[in-house]
Amino acid sequence: HTHFLSLSLQAKMSRPVQARRLEGIDKNIWVEFVKLATTYSRVNLGQGFPDFPPPDFLKEAFVRALSGENHMVHQYTRAFGHPPLVKILAQFFGKLLGRDIDPLTNVMVTVGAYQALFCCFQAFVDEGDEVIIIEPFFDCYEAMVKMAGGKPVYVPLRPKAPEGGKLMSSADWLLDPAELASKFSKKTKVIVLNSPNNPLGKVFSQGDLELIAGLCVQHDVLCISDEVYEWLVYDGKEHVRIASLRGMWDRTVTIGSAGKTFSATGWKVGWTVGPNHLLQHVRTVHQNSVYHCATAAQDAVAQGFQREFELHGKPDSYFVQLPKEMQQKRDWLVQSLDAVGMKPVIPEGTYFLVADISEFKSDVPDVPDSHEPYDSRFAKWMVKNKGLAAIPLSTFYCEAHKSKYNHFIRFCFAKEEATLKAANDILQKWKQEKTNP
Ligand code: PMP
Repeated sequence: HTHFLSLSLQAKMSRPVQARRLEGIDKNIWVEFVKLATTYSRVNLGQGFPDFPPPDFLKEAFVRALSGENHMVHQYTRAFGHPPLVKILAQFFGKLLGRDIDPLTNVMVTVGAYQALFCCFQAFVDEGDEVIIIEPFFDCYEAMVKMAGGKPVYVPLRPKAPEGGKLMSSADWLLDPAELASKFSKKTKVIVLNSPNNPLGKVFSQGDLELIAGLCVQHDVLCISDEVYEWLVYDGKEHVRIASLRGMWDRTVTIGSAGKTFSATGWKVGWTVGPNHLLQHVRTVHQNSVYHCATAAQDAVAQGFQREFELHGKPDSYFVQLPKEMQQKRDWLVQSLDAVGMKPVIPEGTYFLVADISEFKSDVPDVPDSHEPYDSRFAKWMVKNKGLAAIPLSTFYCEAHKSKYNHFIRFCFAKEEATLKAANDILQKWKQEKTNP
């Protein structure tokens, strides 16, 4: 008995188990905020997913795929993408980008855009390479760059107060051309672009993209272009694809997501589009990590894209209808927030907006020496005390910049009218309590 005990003591591991590549990226705010939202929220406008169903034609396509005669949809399909899906994606993006796209070499399917991002960083970023990230940014970019051994270099969008007391727009958050140019060096390997941008909803203008493209060409830098919100653009604005600009096809991998495109984030179907000399390396990462993606979901997404290809630009197209509905939802939330003094920054795209919480500081007093940014404590207080979940904007900044951008929270408005009304009720009641304590 004693012998066994001493053996098991010896057997206890004493060496460090964590791989070096995980240093500094082991904390993730989503785990914490998703848990808080499930525990406390009555209305969850935190994490980005619709609470309305995907379109019927898409659900029916999934059912058809599963119940049809082709039982091979239950088996592995082509590792780099189910043939019908890469075929229609090639046709669709060929039309959008105005070039011939080969389904077998210029398109690769992934487990959501998230895996596409991971494959790209692993494929292109070496130890010590610098990767330029525009702030605020979808937070996983930072961790993925670090995991690949790269060094993130941050350049913040600079907010400019609008004239005449108007509400701010995401278009008022600007890239400073000189500042951006100063971040490019011999060490720069990649710039990450995310337009329309999560969390601000900024849709980068043709001018912004030409500036970025010019610097990429000048410094021989790659572009990972995360365009998962490509269909969610409002007020007649146009989404410009950076891969369509001069000199950029050869150095850009464009990433998309059926989750965002068809309001079905749980399906986790994403893709990359780009030149073969880049995608061949993305395929190498994919084949040595995930290799196959769920066949039936790809089949249904292929059918969805086939429908959209035929209806492209027509009023019945989901890609025309969805942004119309979402713009209405945006406007409802903008009104609700504006009415209580939580000033929204009107987004030009995506299904997010950020709102200024400065006028609510008396409800959640600052703690001067806290390591936690103010907006983070505010968001936690809000979900616990008001039942309304949102995400602090500082989440989307690097450590050094968090304290500068700590008075906004991000809301997701991809929600049923009833959900947005319930959020409005919470805000109204809160406002009343503030005015008549
Ligand atoms: N990029 C951005 C900017 C996102 O907001 C998201 C989802 N929140 C993703 C990528 C990941 O997309 P998917 O769900 O298809 O993996």
